[in-house]
Amino acid sequence: MNKDNSLRPFFRPTGIALIGASQHPEKLSFGILQNLLHPEYGFPGPVYPVNPRASEILGKTCYPDISQVPDPVELAIIIVPAPYVAATMEACGRRGVKAVIVITGGFREAGPDGKTLEDRLVAIAKQYDMRLMGPNGIGVIDTNTPLNTTFVKGMPLPGKIAFLSQSGALCGGVIDWSKQRGIGFSVFLSVGNEADVTESDLLPYLQDDPGSTVITLYIEEIHNPRRFLQVAEEVAAQKPVLALKSGRTASGQRATASHTGALASNDAAYQALFRQTGIVQVDTLDELFDSALLLTAHQTLAGRNIAIITNAGGPGALAADALERHGLHLAVSAPETIAALQPHLPAAAALTAPIDMLGGAFPEHYGLAVKAVLQDHSTDGILVIHVPQAVVDAREVSREIIDAVQAVPADKPVVACFLGGDAVTEAAQRTLAAGIPTFTFPSAAAAALGTLYRWHNRPPVDNVPPESVAEADRQCAAAIVQQALAEKRTALSAAESEAILHAYGIPTPGSALAKRADEAVARAKAFGYPVVLKLQSPDILHKSDVGGVKVGVADDQAVREAFAGIIANARATKPRARIDGVLVQEMVSGGQEVIVGGTRDPHFGPLLMFGVGGVLVELLGQVTFRLAPLSSAEAGRMIDDTAAAKLLAGLRGAPPADRDALRQTIVRVGQLLADIPQIAELDLNPLLVLPASRGVRAVDPRIILNGS
Ligand code: ADP
Ligand code: MG
Repeated sequence: MNKDNSLRPFFRPTGIALIGASQHPEKLSFGILQNLLHPEYGFPGPVYPVNPRASEILGKTCYPDISQVPDPVELAIIIVPAPYVAATMEACGRRGVKAVIVITGGFREAGPDGKTLEDRLVAIAKQYDMRLMGPNGIGVIDTNTPLNTTFVKGMPLPGKIAFLSQSGALCGGVIDWSKQRGIGFSVFLSVGNEADVTESDLLPYLQDDPGSTVITLYIEEIHNPRRFLQVAEEVAAQKPVLALKSGRTASGQRATASHTGALASNDAAYQALFRQTGIVQVDTLDELFDSALLLTAHQTLAGRNIAIITNAGGPGALAADALERHGLHLAVSAPETIAALQPHLPAAAALTAPIDMLGGAFPEHYGLAVKAVLQDHSTDGILVIHVPQAVVDAREVSREIIDAVQAVPADKPVVACFLGGDAVTEAAQRTLAAGIPTFTFPSAAAAALGTLYRWHNRPPVDNVPPESVAEADRQCAAAIVQQALAEKRTALSAAESEAILHAYGIPTPGSALAKRADEAVARAKAFGYPVVLKLQSPDILHKSDVGGVKVGVADDQAVREAFAGIIANARATKPRARIDGVLVQEMVSGGQEVIVGGTRDPHFGPLLMFGVGGVLVELLGQVTFRLAPLSSAEAGRMIDDTAAAKLLAGLRGAPPADRDALRQTIVRVGQLLADIPQIAELDLNPLLVLPASRGVRAVDPRIILNGS
């Protein structure tokens, strides 16, 4: 897919200049040169240190400036003080350098002046048709080239995992840890401030990189979520992409006039973005790399049933719990499996679930059990646990597991836990080296299997909305919005909100505003009993909270009482509230209450919310978000994300609700948000979903416009 070859020089340059190379071993640039020239993993092409005050560093001729550097030189690593970076980049541009990595910090992250300086770098890169990585990042490691432009100590082990990090500082720790853990990397990227090259540029490169089979991301902020959505969707369709997002709890507190606005958060938007691209989000660094390790070995996990084979009951039980936590189940052995194992395992062994061979299990028991379960059709994957025993050599257990996996061709993941320290280190290393993902604790193995399941069973991604709204209707909705804004109103009336919904094909019950009780009675008679009466006041947002909603109002007398009651309640709670009157509405019966809402995030644009509705929506928190607009298949997945799906399917004898109409409504609300940028917040709470083929009714639409 990647037609953009401009990134190749970051990974496989013909030659490299290090500008700002120092001869002092305590300087970061000296560390970079050491990595570039390392006897084992040094860059195989020419490396040119540039420094006007040195003639030679680490045995390499030093050049006074980039213009003097001989060919070939495609990549420049710049580590001169911030005020000199722009001029250095200009010189690189004139010299015909194709790509620069700016390690130096002190740009956008340092304030407005730094931002100006950074903008200058971007302009220079553009002018000379150069790509810029950074500033304020540590650059690129490619273990296949090999190339290491960082000042981090050492080189990661070679492997199949690509890691892209928005934190440079994290990289040093991860590299050091990963070597001990035995996890290898193809590519390691520290993208810094992403002034030019961003994760959205790099993902297609990594998709095409044959050395990388899994892509892992550490994300703090995605600068252009809409572009990321488009790019990542294609990449994640081809290769697993796992993301760890930090800053998830930082809540942007803001005043909102809707349930949706109150529940929307930056984290909700990122979750939506990852879901809609097919990226699998994980919660911790351990989970990121444990999962990546498993995904380099296996990319299929057809079902949720994982067999546990163990010599220790406690860890087996913990593993079973952990599987459930990650959306998987403990597999129950098929009768054939039990029959095959029974004669060979210790008499007291449990053979069903988990397969507990007890403390007396010998290495060969592991081999037999793994072989039998690999052939068991009721099992989708295997988690083998070994806890050290005095009379058993863990290395023998490892050999048995490896032999069994190699003997039985089955497309099922097998993962191992060697729960211990010194007694199992060698066994664990051997198992891992044989290509079997190996962990210390069962919880880590279960988390990795959970990620694999989510990856393999990820829903198809299709973010293209169906064309469902006619141009005329769009214009009608836009005109209502324009009119309100012209009158300096940001909260639309019930009648205006209803008219906009009608333009988008979303039905509402019949309703009419009454100023006096007689009028209310006349309206109610026209609709037919029972009806609902609701306070209409621009100053009262949640009508039920002030006793402003009466449902099931059954006759003329009840209408008069409800009318008076509503007005009295409003006056009692908010004496100065403006009261427009009372809305008389057709009563909708037999519907399930859901919420469909929208809000406009300054960074992500229109966000759509769906969930369990009603007055308790914030309390229940059963909601899910997507970036709008969206397809009707994606709308269906929104429904399935929350407990609303079960309500709608028909709980306790209730008839199944009209899911199709609900899906269509979600799509249309998404379209409305996308079409009319002046809509800041929107709540349909509740949207009543009637039984199958009877449609939906928005009984309480609220639309808030962006005043500025
Ligand atoms: P608010 O959200 O301001 O309190 P609503 O108009 O949403 O007011 O009404 C509160 C609740 O009353 C709804 O959640 C719903 O259960 C019920 N309700 C409101 N209108 C109708 C209607 N037309 N038909 C049936 N139930 C209704
Ligand atoms: Mg409501």
